[in-house]
Amino acid sequence: MGIKKRVSLSLAFSLAFTLAVSFLTLYLISSQILERRIKETYRLVYDNYRELLKREEKNLSILVSYVPPYSTYYYREILSETKCEEVAYYRITSTGPYYGISRQYPEGCFFMGVNLEEILRFMESLMGIDWVIYYDREFVPEISGGNLDAFMKDKVVISNMVIDRFSKQYVLTLTLNVRGYMLYGSFLEKILLMEVPLTNIKGVPIGRVILIKDVSALYREAYMVFLVLALYSVFVLSFLAVVLFRIVSTVVNRIVFLKDITARIEKKDFTVAHLLENSKERWKDEVYELKHSIYNMALSLKSTFEELEKKKSELEQLAYYDPLTGLPNRRFFFDHANLILESSKRYGNPLSLLIIDIDHFKKINDTYGHEAGDLVLKSFADILRKNIRQSDLSARLGGEEFVLLMPNTNLQRGKVVAERIRSAFQNSLIVYEGKEVRATLSVGLAGYKAGVESIDDIIRMADEALYKAKELGRNRIEVYDA
Ligand code: GH3
Ligand code: MG
Ligand code: MG
Repeated sequence: MGIKKRVSLSLAFSLAFTLAVSFLTLYLISSQILERRIKETYRLVYDNYRELLKREEKNLSILVSYVPPYSTYYYREILSETKCEEVAYYRITSTGPYYGISRQYPEGCFFMGVNLEEILRFMESLMGIDWVIYYDREFVPEISGGNLDAFMKDKVVISNMVIDRFSKQYVLTLTLNVRGYMLYGSFLEKILLMEVPLTNIKGVPIGRVILIKDVSALYREAYMVFLVLALYSVFVLSFLAVVLFRIVSTVVNRIVFLKDITARIEKKDFTVAHLLENSKERWKDEVYELKHSIYNMALSLKSTFEELEKKKSELEQLAYYDPLTGLPNRRFFFDHANLILESSKRYGNPLSLLIIDIDHFKKINDTYGHEAGDLVLKSFADILRKNIRQSDLSARLGGEEFVLLMPNTNLQRGKVVAERIRSAFQNSLIVYEGKEVRATLSVGLAGYKAGVESIDDIIRMADEALYKAKELGRNRIEVYDA
Protein backbone atom coordinates (compact mmCIF):
# COMPACT_ATOMS: atom_id res chain seq x y z
CA MET A 1 0.00 0.00 0.00
CA GLY A 2 1.34 3.43 -0.94
CA ILE A 3 1.87 6.14 1.64
CA LYS A 4 -0.91 8.26 0.13
CA LYS A 5 -3.48 5.50 0.39
CA ARG A 6 -2.39 4.62 3.91
CA VAL A 7 -2.54 8.27 5.01
CA SER A 8 -5.99 8.71 3.40
CA LEU A 9 -7.27 5.63 5.19
CA SER A 10 -5.89 6.64 8.57
CA LEU A 11 -7.18 10.18 8.11
CA ALA A 12 -10.64 8.92 7.20
CA PHE A 13 -10.57 6.55 10.16
CA SER A 14 -9.40 9.23 12.61
CA LEU A 15 -11.96 11.67 11.22
CA ALA A 16 -14.77 9.15 11.67
CA PHE A 17 -13.55 8.21 15.14
CA THR A 18 -13.11 11.82 16.31
CA LEU A 19 -16.49 12.79 14.88
CA ALA A 20 -18.15 9.86 16.60
CA VAL A 21 -16.51 10.75 19.92
CA SER A 22 -17.40 14.44 19.62
CA PHE A 23 -21.00 13.64 18.61
CA LEU A 24 -21.32 11.36 21.59
CA THR A 25 -19.81 13.97 23.91
CA LEU A 26 -22.06 16.68 22.49
CA TYR A 27 -25.07 14.42 22.80
CA LEU A 28 -24.24 13.62 26.44
CA ILE A 29 -23.62 17.27 27.31
CA SER A 30 -26.76 18.55 25.61
CA SER A 31 -28.95 15.84 27.09
CA GLN A 32 -27.49 16.63 30.54
CA ILE A 33 -28.27 20.30 30.06
CA LEU A 34 -31.73 19.45 28.77
CA GLU A 35 -32.44 17.21 31.74
CA ARG A 36 -31.31 19.93 34.15
CA ARG A 37 -33.53 22.51 32.46
CA ILE A 38 -36.52 20.15 32.57
CA LYS A 39 -35.93 19.63 36.30
CA GLU A 40 -35.63 23.37 36.78
CA THR A 41 -38.90 23.88 34.97
CA TYR A 42 -40.51 21.25 37.18
CA ARG A 43 -39.11 22.89 40.33
CA LEU A 44 -40.25 26.33 39.20
CA VAL A 45 -43.82 25.27 38.47
CA TYR A 46 -44.08 23.17 41.59
CA ASP A 47 -42.58 25.88 43.83
CA ASN A 48 -44.90 28.51 42.36
CA TYR A 49 -47.88 26.34 43.05
CA ARG A 50 -46.80 25.70 46.65
CA GLU A 51 -46.01 29.36 47.17
CA LEU A 52 -49.43 30.39 45.94
CA LEU A 53 -51.09 27.96 48.32
CA LYS A 54 -48.95 29.11 51.22
CA ARG A 55 -49.88 32.75 50.61
CA GLU A 56 -53.53 31.85 50.50
CA GLU A 57 -53.11 29.96 53.74
CA LYS A 58 -51.84 33.19 55.34
CA ASN A 59 -54.67 35.23 53.78
CA LEU A 60 -57.21 32.82 55.09
CA SER A 61 -56.06 33.14 58.69
CA ILE A 62 -56.47 36.91 58.43
CA LEU A 63 -59.66 37.00 56.40
CA VAL A 64 -61.56 34.29 58.14
CA SER A 65 -63.36 36.50 60.65
CA TYR A 66 -64.37 39.16 58.10
CA VAL A 67 -65.21 37.42 54.89
CA PRO A 68 -68.65 35.94 54.51
CA PRO A 69 -68.56 32.27 53.82
CA TYR A 70 -69.93 32.49 50.30
CA SER A 71 -67.49 33.97 47.82
CA THR A 72 -66.40 32.10 44.74
CA TYR A 73 -62.82 32.40 45.77
CA TYR A 74 -63.00 31.51 49.43
CA TYR A 75 -65.01 28.93 51.16
CA ARG A 76 -66.02 28.43 54.75
CA GLU A 77 -67.75 25.46 56.29
CA ILE A 78 -68.51 24.48 59.83
CA LEU A 79 -67.37 20.96 60.45
CA SER A 80 -69.08 18.28 62.42
CA GLU A 81 -65.81 16.86 63.77
CA THR A 82 -65.60 16.76 67.51
CA LYS A 83 -61.83 17.02 67.53
CA CYS A 84 -60.67 19.98 65.40
CA GLU A 85 -57.13 19.45 64.17
CA GLU A 86 -55.31 22.41 62.71
CA VAL A 87 -54.15 20.83 59.46
CA ALA A 88 -53.88 21.92 55.82
CA TYR A 89 -55.65 19.68 53.29
CA TYR A 90 -57.84 19.50 50.20
CA ARG A 91 -61.53 19.40 50.73
CA ILE A 92 -63.74 18.30 47.87
CA THR A 93 -67.23 19.80 48.01
CA SER A 94 -70.24 19.86 45.75
CA THR A 95 -69.05 23.25 44.42
CA GLY A 96 -65.56 22.01 43.72
CA PRO A 97 -62.18 21.26 45.32
CA TYR A 98 -60.70 23.65 47.88
CA TYR A 99 -57.36 23.89 49.63
CA GLY A 100 -57.41 25.14 53.19
CA ILE A 101 -57.15 24.54 56.91
CA SER A 102 -59.47 23.51 59.68
CA ARG A 103 -59.40 25.56 62.86
CA GLN A 104 -61.22 25.79 66.16
CA TYR A 105 -63.28 28.95 66.78
CA PRO A 106 -65.66 29.77 69.57
CA GLU A 107 -68.51 29.06 67.13
CA GLY A 108 -67.11 25.64 66.36
CA CYS A 109 -64.60 23.86 64.07
CA PHE A 110 -64.34 25.59 60.73
CA PHE A 111 -62.74 24.69 57.40
CA MET A 112 -61.55 27.72 55.45
CA GLY A 113 -60.31 27.08 51.94
CA VAL A 114 -59.40 28.71 48.66
CA ASN A 115 -60.85 27.60 45.34
CA LEU A 116 -58.25 25.30 43.77
CA GLU A 117 -59.54 25.99 40.26
CA GLU A 118 -58.95 29.71 40.77
CA ILE A 119 -55.40 29.04 41.86
CA LEU A 120 -54.84 26.86 38.81
CA ARG A 121 -56.44 29.42 36.44
CA PHE A 122 -54.10 32.00 37.88
CA MET A 123 -51.11 29.78 37.17
CA GLU A 124 -52.50 29.10 33.71
CA SER A 125 -52.54 32.79 32.86
CA LEU A 126 -49.25 33.47 34.64
CA MET A 127 -47.09 30.61 33.37
CA GLY A 128 -49.00 29.11 30.44
CA ILE A 129 -49.72 25.98 32.36
CA ASP A 130 -52.52 23.53 31.67
CA TRP A 131 -53.96 21.37 34.36
CA VAL A 132 -56.36 18.59 35.36
CA ILE A 133 -57.95 17.71 38.68
CA TYR A 134 -59.03 14.13 39.17
CA TYR A 135 -59.95 11.80 42.04
CA ASP A 136 -59.30 8.16 42.53
CA ARG A 137 -62.48 6.29 41.86
CA GLU A 138 -62.34 4.39 45.17
CA PHE A 139 -62.55 7.65 47.15
CA VAL A 140 -65.45 9.14 45.20
CA PRO A 141 -68.23 7.64 47.37
CA GLU A 142 -66.54 9.09 50.46
CA ILE A 143 -65.94 12.47 48.79
CA SER A 144 -69.50 12.74 47.44
CA GLY A 145 -70.83 12.51 50.99
CA GLY A 146 -73.58 10.05 50.07
CA ASN A 147 -74.80 12.06 47.11
CA LEU A 148 -72.94 10.03 44.46
CA ASP A 149 -75.26 10.57 41.49
CA ALA A 150 -75.30 14.34 41.88
CA PHE A 151 -71.52 14.33 42.32
CA MET A 152 -70.84 12.24 39.23
CA LYS A 153 -72.96 14.51 37.02
CA ASP A 154 -70.86 16.23 34.31
CA LYS A 155 -67.67 14.39 35.39
CA VAL A 156 -65.53 12.35 33.03
CA VAL A 157 -64.35 8.91 34.02
CA ILE A 158 -61.16 7.49 32.54
CA SER A 159 -60.29 4.04 33.91
CA ASN A 160 -60.04 4.64 37.70
CA MET A 161 -59.85 8.41 37.46
CA VAL A 162 -62.82 10.64 37.94
CA ILE A 163 -61.94 13.89 36.30
CA ASP A 164 -63.42 16.95 37.94
CA ARG A 165 -61.99 19.98 36.16
CA PHE A 166 -59.43 20.69 33.48
CA SER A 167 -58.06 23.69 31.59
CA LYS A 168 -58.34 22.46 27.98
CA GLN A 169 -59.97 19.51 26.28
CA TYR A 170 -56.75 18.05 24.88
CA VAL A 171 -55.37 17.26 28.32
CA LEU A 172 -57.86 14.39 28.57
CA THR A 173 -55.98 12.58 25.79
CA LEU A 174 -52.78 12.48 27.84
CA THR A 175 -51.58 9.72 30.12
CA LEU A 176 -52.61 11.24 33.42
CA ASN A 177 -51.43 8.46 35.66
CA VAL A 178 -48.31 10.41 36.66
CA ARG A 179 -46.14 9.97 39.75
CA GLY A 180 -43.67 12.80 40.35
CA TYR A 181 -43.13 14.15 36.86
CA MET A 182 -43.13 12.69 33.40
CA LEU A 183 -42.31 13.68 29.81
CA TYR A 184 -44.76 12.98 27.11
CA GLY A 185 -44.79 13.47 23.34
CA SER A 186 -42.85 13.01 20.12
CA PHE A 187 -39.34 14.00 19.06
CA LEU A 188 -40.03 17.74 18.74
CA GLU A 189 -43.28 18.10 20.69
CA LYS A 190 -42.66 17.47 24.38
CA ILE A 191 -44.86 18.22 27.34
CA LEU A 192 -44.00 17.93 30.98
CA LEU A 193 -46.61 16.50 33.33
CA MET A 194 -46.21 17.15 37.08
CA GLU A 195 -48.18 15.50 39.82
CA VAL A 196 -49.53 17.20 42.96
CA PRO A 197 -51.28 14.75 45.26
CA LEU A 198 -54.58 15.91 46.78
CA THR A 199 -54.36 14.79 50.38
CA ASN A 200 -57.47 14.69 52.57
CA ILE A 201 -57.64 15.59 56.24
CA LYS A 202 -56.09 12.25 57.17
CA GLY A 203 -53.18 12.86 54.79
CA VAL A 204 -54.37 10.18 52.33
CA PRO A 205 -54.06 11.10 48.62
CA ILE A 206 -57.54 10.91 47.21
CA GLY A 207 -56.74 12.36 43.82
CA ARG A 208 -54.28 14.49 41.91
CA VAL A 209 -53.69 17.79 40.26
CA ILE A 210 -51.65 17.30 37.10
CA LEU A 211 -49.83 20.44 35.98
CA ILE A 212 -48.94 20.41 32.28
CA LYS A 213 -46.24 22.51 30.67
CA ASP A 214 -45.21 22.50 27.01
CA VAL A 215 -41.38 22.14 26.95
CA SER A 216 -40.93 21.67 23.16
CA ALA A 217 -39.01 24.95 23.01
CA LEU A 218 -36.40 23.58 25.42
CA TYR A 219 -35.98 20.48 23.28
CA ARG A 220 -35.80 22.42 20.03
CA GLU A 221 -33.20 24.71 21.55
CA ALA A 222 -31.12 21.75 22.74
CA TYR A 223 -31.37 20.04 19.33
CA MET A 224 -30.36 23.28 17.67
CA VAL A 225 -27.31 23.73 19.90
CA PHE A 226 -26.37 20.11 19.31
CA LEU A 227 -26.78 20.49 15.53
CA VAL A 228 -24.76 23.71 15.38
CA LEU A 229 -21.93 22.27 17.48
CA ALA A 230 -21.98 19.00 15.48
CA LEU A 231 -21.82 20.88 12.18
CA TYR A 232 -19.07 23.03 13.58
CA SER A 233 -17.01 20.02 14.60
CA VAL A 234 -17.63 18.35 11.21
CA PHE A 235 -16.44 21.51 9.52
CA VAL A 236 -13.36 22.00 11.73
CA LEU A 237 -12.30 18.35 11.61
CA SER A 238 -12.82 18.07 7.84
CA PHE A 239 -10.85 21.23 7.33
CA LEU A 240 -8.01 19.82 9.45
CA ALA A 241 -8.12 16.53 7.57
CA VAL A 242 -7.98 18.29 4.20
CA VAL A 243 -5.06 20.46 5.29
CA LEU A 244 -3.20 17.44 6.67
CA PHE A 245 -3.91 15.41 3.54
CA ARG A 246 -2.64 18.19 1.30
CA ILE A 247 0.58 18.49 3.28
CA VAL A 248 1.13 14.73 3.20
CA SER A 249 0.34 14.41 -0.50
CA THR A 250 2.75 17.22 -1.35
CA VAL A 251 5.48 15.43 0.58
CA VAL A 252 4.55 12.10 -1.02
CA ASN A 253 4.56 13.61 -4.52
CA ARG A 254 8.01 15.00 -3.87
CA ILE A 255 9.21 11.60 -2.63
CA VAL A 256 7.66 9.86 -5.67
CA PHE A 257 9.47 12.35 -7.91
CA LEU A 258 12.76 11.53 -6.14
CA LYS A 259 11.99 7.80 -6.42
CA ASP A 260 11.54 8.11 -10.22
CA ILE A 261 14.74 10.14 -10.44
CA THR A 262 16.75 7.54 -8.50
CA ALA A 263 15.29 4.77 -10.70
CA ARG A 264 16.61 6.61 -13.75
CA ILE A 265 19.99 7.19 -12.10
CA GLU A 266 20.06 3.46 -11.41
CA LYS A 267 19.76 2.97 -15.18
CA LYS A 268 22.74 5.34 -15.64
CA ASP A 269 20.51 8.13 -16.93
CA PHE A 270 22.42 11.09 -15.54
CA THR A 271 20.43 13.64 -17.57
CA VAL A 272 18.01 13.70 -14.60
CA ALA A 273 20.50 15.80 -12.62
CA HIS A 274 19.22 18.92 -14.36
CA LEU A 275 15.60 17.92 -13.49
CA LEU A 276 16.64 17.93 -9.84
CA GLU A 277 18.38 21.24 -10.26
CA ASN A 278 15.34 22.84 -11.93
CA SER A 279 12.60 21.41 -9.71
CA LYS A 280 11.13 24.17 -7.56
CA GLU A 281 10.98 23.62 -3.81
CA ARG A 282 8.72 25.62 -1.55
CA TRP A 283 9.96 24.09 1.69
CA LYS A 284 13.56 23.71 2.78
CA ASP A 285 12.85 20.56 4.76
CA GLU A 286 14.22 16.99 5.00
CA VAL A 287 12.86 16.09 1.56
CA TYR A 288 14.63 19.11 0.16
CA GLU A 289 17.87 17.90 1.79
CA LEU A 290 17.25 14.42 0.39
CA LYS A 291 16.81 15.90 -3.07
CA HIS A 292 20.02 17.80 -2.64
CA SER A 293 22.01 14.75 -1.62
CA ILE A 294 20.51 12.73 -4.51
CA TYR A 295 21.58 15.52 -6.83
CA ASN A 296 25.14 15.44 -5.43
CA MET A 297 25.15 11.65 -5.58
CA ALA A 298 24.05 11.74 -9.22
CA LEU A 299 26.84 14.16 -10.06
CA SER A 300 29.53 12.13 -8.32
CA LEU A 301 28.17 8.89 -9.83
CA LYS A 302 28.23 10.53 -13.22
CA SER A 303 31.87 11.59 -12.92
CA THR A 304 32.88 8.20 -11.46
CA PHE A 305 31.06 6.48 -14.29
CA GLU A 306 32.72 8.66 -16.92
CA GLU A 307 36.12 8.00 -15.34
CA LEU A 308 35.40 4.29 -15.42
CA GLU A 309 34.41 4.48 -19.09
CA LYS A 310 37.65 6.28 -19.84
CA LYS A 311 39.69 3.71 -17.88
CA LYS A 312 37.83 0.95 -19.68
CA SER A 313 38.69 2.29 -23.12
CA GLU A 314 42.27 2.80 -21.99
CA LEU A 315 42.43 -0.80 -20.85
CA GLU A 316 40.87 -1.92 -24.13
CA GLN A 317 43.49 0.08 -25.98
CA LEU A 318 46.20 -1.62 -23.92
CA ALA A 319 44.74 -5.04 -24.46
CA TYR A 320 44.28 -4.63 -28.21
CA TYR A 321 46.99 -2.27 -29.40
CA ASP A 322 50.77 -2.27 -29.46
CA PRO A 323 51.95 0.73 -27.50
CA LEU A 324 55.12 1.29 -29.57
CA THR A 325 53.68 1.37 -33.10
CA GLY A 326 50.00 2.01 -32.30
CA LEU A 327 49.11 -0.93 -34.57
CA PRO A 328 46.66 -3.63 -33.41
CA ASN A 329 48.40 -6.45 -31.53
CA ARG A 330 48.35 -10.23 -31.99
CA ARG A 331 45.24 -10.63 -29.86
CA PHE A 332 43.26 -8.06 -31.83
CA PHE A 333 44.35 -9.70 -35.06
CA PHE A 334 43.23 -13.22 -34.12
CA ASP A 335 39.97 -11.92 -32.60
CA HIS A 336 39.01 -10.36 -35.93
CA ALA A 337 40.88 -12.30 -38.66
CA ASN A 338 38.81 -15.47 -38.42
CA LEU A 339 35.60 -13.43 -38.91
CA ILE A 340 37.07 -11.98 -42.12
CA LEU A 341 38.09 -15.48 -43.22
CA GLU A 342 34.59 -16.85 -42.54
CA SER A 343 33.00 -14.06 -44.56
CA SER A 344 35.38 -14.68 -47.52
CA LYS A 345 34.61 -18.38 -47.37
CA ARG A 346 30.88 -17.81 -47.37
CA TYR A 347 30.78 -15.30 -50.24
CA GLY A 348 33.67 -16.94 -52.16
CA ASN A 349 35.68 -13.72 -52.13
CA PRO A 350 39.47 -13.84 -52.49
CA LEU A 351 41.67 -13.13 -49.45
CA SER A 352 45.39 -12.33 -49.23
CA LEU A 353 47.70 -12.35 -46.23
CA LEU A 354 51.21 -10.88 -45.91
CA ILE A 355 53.78 -11.74 -43.25
CA ILE A 356 56.32 -8.91 -43.23
CA ASP A 357 59.70 -9.16 -41.46
CA ILE A 358 62.39 -6.47 -41.26
CA ASP A 359 65.72 -7.74 -42.58
CA HIS A 360 68.73 -7.94 -40.28
CA PHE A 361 66.92 -6.02 -37.61
CA LYS A 362 69.24 -7.32 -34.93
CA LYS A 363 72.08 -5.65 -36.75
CA ILE A 364 70.26 -2.27 -36.69
CA ASN A 365 69.85 -2.62 -32.92
CA ASP A 366 73.48 -3.61 -32.56
CA THR A 367 74.76 -0.79 -34.78
CA TYR A 368 72.61 2.17 -33.78
CA GLY A 369 71.09 1.09 -30.50
CA HIS A 370 67.70 -0.18 -29.34
CA GLU A 371 66.07 3.25 -29.64
CA ALA A 372 67.04 3.41 -33.31
CA GLY A 373 65.42 -0.01 -33.73
CA ASP A 374 62.22 1.34 -32.13
CA LEU A 375 62.28 4.29 -34.52
CA VAL A 376 62.55 1.93 -37.46
CA LEU A 377 59.58 -0.09 -36.16
CA LYS A 378 57.49 3.11 -35.84
CA SER A 379 58.49 4.28 -39.31
CA PHE A 380 57.46 0.95 -40.76
CA ALA A 381 54.10 1.14 -38.97
CA ASP A 382 53.50 4.62 -40.48
CA ILE A 383 54.30 3.36 -43.98
CA LEU A 384 52.05 0.33 -43.46
CA ARG A 385 49.11 2.51 -42.35
CA LYS A 386 49.54 4.81 -45.34
CA ASN A 387 49.50 1.97 -47.88
CA ILE A 388 46.48 -0.08 -46.82
CA ARG A 389 42.70 0.18 -47.08
CA GLN A 390 40.22 0.74 -44.28
CA SER A 391 38.96 -2.83 -44.60
CA ASP A 392 42.46 -4.34 -44.32
CA LEU A 393 43.52 -5.76 -40.99
CA SER A 394 47.14 -5.10 -39.97
CA ALA A 395 48.93 -6.04 -36.73
CA ARG A 396 52.31 -6.37 -35.07
CA LEU A 397 52.68 -10.08 -34.39
CA GLY A 398 55.80 -9.59 -32.27
CA GLY A 399 59.37 -8.25 -32.52
CA GLU A 400 59.91 -6.96 -36.04
CA GLU A 401 57.28 -9.21 -37.57
CA PHE A 402 53.97 -7.86 -38.93
CA VAL A 403 50.88 -9.24 -40.61
CA LEU A 404 48.46 -7.73 -43.13
CA LEU A 405 45.15 -9.42 -43.98
CA MET A 406 43.41 -8.07 -47.08
CA PRO A 407 39.81 -9.12 -47.79
CA ASN A 408 38.52 -9.05 -51.41
CA THR A 409 42.14 -9.16 -52.61
CA ASN A 410 43.55 -11.91 -54.83
CA LEU A 411 47.22 -12.95 -54.80
CA GLN A 412 48.05 -10.80 -57.83
CA ARG A 413 46.61 -7.70 -56.23
CA GLY A 414 48.12 -8.69 -52.88
CA LYS A 415 51.52 -8.86 -54.43
CA VAL A 416 51.11 -5.32 -55.81
CA VAL A 417 50.31 -4.06 -52.31
CA ALA A 418 53.29 -5.95 -50.85
CA GLU A 419 55.58 -4.48 -53.43
CA ARG A 420 54.30 -0.99 -52.77
CA ILE A 421 55.00 -1.37 -49.04
CA ARG A 422 58.40 -2.96 -49.57
CA SER A 423 59.63 -0.25 -51.92
CA ALA A 424 58.14 2.58 -49.83
CA PHE A 425 60.01 1.25 -46.78
CA GLN A 426 63.23 0.74 -48.64
CA ASN A 427 63.09 4.30 -49.97
CA SER A 428 62.04 5.91 -46.73
CA LEU A 429 64.50 8.13 -44.96
CA ILE A 430 64.99 7.21 -41.31
CA VAL A 431 67.31 9.49 -39.44
CA TYR A 432 68.47 8.65 -35.92
CA GLU A 433 70.74 11.14 -34.11
CA GLY A 434 71.85 12.63 -37.41
CA LYS A 435 72.63 9.24 -38.88
CA GLU A 436 70.72 7.73 -41.75
CA VAL A 437 69.32 4.29 -40.94
CA ARG A 438 68.42 2.05 -43.86
CA ALA A 439 66.34 -1.09 -43.72
CA THR A 440 64.53 -3.49 -46.00
CA LEU A 441 61.65 -5.93 -45.78
CA SER A 442 61.07 -9.55 -46.68
CA VAL A 443 57.44 -10.49 -47.36
CA GLY A 444 55.69 -13.84 -47.56
CA LEU A 445 52.32 -13.84 -49.38
CA ALA A 446 49.58 -16.47 -49.23
CA GLY A 447 45.87 -16.49 -50.09
CA TYR A 448 42.75 -18.34 -49.18
CA LYS A 449 42.15 -21.56 -51.08
CA ALA A 450 40.09 -24.70 -50.68
CA GLY A 451 41.07 -26.79 -47.69
CA VAL A 452 42.06 -23.85 -45.51
CA GLU A 453 40.50 -24.33 -42.07
CA SER A 454 41.60 -21.31 -40.11
CA ILE A 455 43.68 -18.17 -40.33
CA ASP A 456 46.64 -20.10 -38.80
CA ASP A 457 46.77 -22.24 -41.94
CA ILE A 458 47.21 -19.16 -44.14
CA ILE A 459 49.79 -17.70 -41.71
CA ARG A 460 51.76 -20.95 -41.89
CA MET A 461 51.71 -20.76 -45.70
CA ALA A 462 52.79 -17.10 -45.70
CA ASP A 463 55.56 -17.95 -43.18
CA GLU A 464 56.82 -20.58 -45.54
CA ALA A 465 56.91 -18.02 -48.36
CA LEU A 466 58.69 -15.55 -46.04
CA TYR A 467 61.30 -18.15 -45.22
CA LYS A 468 61.84 -18.60 -48.95
CA ALA A 469 62.22 -14.81 -49.39
CA LYS A 470 64.89 -14.75 -46.69
CA GLU A 471 66.61 -17.71 -48.33
CA LEU A 472 66.59 -16.03 -51.69
CA GLY A 473 68.47 -13.00 -50.38
CA ARG A 474 65.90 -10.85 -48.52
CA ASN A 475 64.34 -7.47 -49.58
CA ARG A 476 61.84 -9.34 -51.72
CA ILE A 477 58.35 -10.82 -51.90
CA GLU A 478 57.62 -14.52 -52.24
CA VAL A 479 54.20 -16.07 -52.93
CA TYR A 480 53.37 -19.35 -51.30
CA ASP A 481 53.44 -22.14 -53.79
CA ALA A 482 52.26 -25.55 -52.66
P1 GH3 B 1 66.51 -11.75 -40.29
O1 GH3 B 1 66.95 -10.84 -41.39
O2 GH3 B 1 66.81 -13.15 -40.54
O3 GH3 B 1 65.12 -11.51 -39.93
O4 GH3 B 1 67.42 -11.37 -39.07
P2 GH3 B 1 66.98 -10.45 -37.88
O5 GH3 B 1 68.16 -9.92 -37.20
O6 GH3 B 1 66.04 -9.39 -38.36
O7 GH3 B 1 66.19 -11.44 -36.95
P3 GH3 B 1 66.35 -11.92 -35.46
O8 GH3 B 1 65.13 -12.74 -35.13
O9 GH3 B 1 67.65 -12.58 -35.38
O10 GH3 B 1 66.42 -10.63 -34.63
C1 GH3 B 1 65.28 -9.89 -34.28
C2 GH3 B 1 65.70 -8.88 -33.27
O11 GH3 B 1 64.71 -7.89 -33.08
C3 GH3 B 1 66.00 -9.48 -31.96
C4 GH3 B 1 65.41 -8.50 -30.94
O12 GH3 B 1 66.34 -8.02 -30.02
C5 GH3 B 1 64.92 -7.34 -31.76
N1 GH3 B 1 63.73 -6.78 -31.27
C6 GH3 B 1 62.57 -7.44 -31.00
N2 GH3 B 1 61.65 -6.57 -30.56
C7 GH3 B 1 62.21 -5.32 -30.57
C8 GH3 B 1 61.78 -4.02 -30.23
O13 GH3 B 1 60.62 -3.80 -29.83
N3 GH3 B 1 62.61 -2.99 -30.35
C9 GH3 B 1 63.90 -3.18 -30.79
N4 GH3 B 1 64.66 -2.11 -30.89
N5 GH3 B 1 64.33 -4.36 -31.08
C10 GH3 B 1 63.52 -5.46 -30.98
MG1 MG C 1 64.04 -9.87 -39.16
MG1 MG D 1 62.11 -11.84 -37.29
